[in-house]
Amino acid sequence: MALKGAEIMKMLPKTNCKECGYATCFAFAMKLATGGAKLEDCPYLDPQVKAQLEAAMAPPIKLVTIGTGENTLSIGEEQVMFRHEKTFFHEPGIAILISDKGAESEIEEKLKHINTFDFERIGQKLRINLLALCFESGDKDKFQALVKKAYQTTEAALILICEDTDVLFSAAALCADRKPLVYPITNENMNVAIPKLKKLGVAAGVKGQSIDAVVSVTSDLKDAGIEDMVLDPGFKNMLEGIRDQTLIRRAALKKGFRPLGYPTIAFPCFMYPDRFQETLAAAALMTKYAGIVVWSQANAHFLLPLLVLRFNIFSDPRRPMTVEEKAYAIGNPDENSPVLISTNYALDYFIVSAAIEEGNMPAYLCINNTEGLGVMAAWTSGKFNGEAIAEFFKKYGVADKVKHRKLIIPGVAKKLVAELEEELPGWEIILGPLEGSDIPKFLSEQWKA
Ligand code: SF4
Repeated sequence: MALKGAEIMKMLPKTNCKECGYATCFAFAMKLATGGAKLEDCPYLDPQVKAQLEAAMAPPIKLVTIGTGENTLSIGEEQVMFRHEKTFFHEPGIAILISDKGAESEIEEKLKHINTFDFERIGQKLRINLLALCFESGDKDKFQALVKKAYQTTEAALILICEDTDVLFSAAALCADRKPLVYPITNENMNVAIPKLKKLGVAAGVKGQSIDAVVSVTSDLKDAGIEDMVLDPGFKNMLEGIRDQTLIRRAALKKGFRPLGYPTIAFPCFMYPDRFQETLAAAALMTKYAGIVVWSQANAHFLLPLLVLRFNIFSDPRRPMTVEEKAYAIGNPDENSPVLISTNYALDYFIVSAAIEEGNMPAYLCINNTEGLGVMAAWTSGKFNGEAIAEFFKKYGVADKVKHRKLIIPGVAKKLVAELEEELPGWEIILGPLEGSDIPKFLSEQWKA
């Protein structure tokens, strides 16, 4: 939010009529300033003032969406330079480059990859987001055939890369309902491109040979009514990329400089022929601050580290990752199966559930809501104690699920044993292993025994 509550207040009608749901115009202004209310809630705003407020309160980096449905990629609307200041909000898209000059088998392989590749980590599906289709053959029909194929055989969001503006927009027309990003829109082709961008309603990938050149194009496009843009200031290597993208983000966030208030795109695929260097550049440029990274690989060994890095950077540091509180049935447990308990810190759940599956012994895994704290932190803060666990047993009917009375608790929670014996009379409290990786052995040796 660019405006403070007191500045917004000056522009409100100041009648304190309460129709917005707030007792005073001042209270409404304060709520607007923190994003907790909408301008539409005040019916007495002068339309001109409303337009001024909308412009002044717009996020410093515009949210741009590419693609449709489940495969929509939303990028931009970032608020901070550094993740620890708050959080990063929209993870960058990872695009796989497909050239129309490539061998048929290679194209097939990449198209197949985007449909089938997904990797689960801490309950989240990590996926490639886009296909970047590149015109290199010089043959318009060939490029159109590639676009049609990608459109028909995948649901991926698309980037169309073509220096020939006619070919670019005739390809865009084939997949306009998929809302592709068309690239490059430059100082040279923008007059031809503007009516076509408007007609198709697609986002513009703006390219300049420098940040200044990009500013000139985005300013003209904005004046012509084009709102959705993604910026490429033409950097040629990783260091230039980090420099340019940092300058762009600083200008947008710290100076409120609107012509640079858009997400960016980076092309490590065109910078380094070496796969390792390309991967390193992709990782660095994603960290600072690319909205889309276009990458030549469809190789899982190179993709996985990139996807995991993105996942880690774009998880919210203010909120521990959690899973739902409940008694999970892992495998197909019965009345003789072991009962284990842990916290709802996502990593705890996934380590223990994976270990149970690995040990091939069905079990009930009770996941107690500790607000995302791990075992020791939850125990020291009083969120994982005898009373809470006894409550959990009652709420989820754990005693009705099994005929034995044995509960396995995390090995690090030794101090819980006495408390639990008191809170769960009749239950034998068994201290599990210290490491999750020892759970399969523990279950197979001690539980069976
Ligand atoms: S509806 Fe408008 S004029 Fe009335 S109190 Fe709210 S902000 Fe003020």
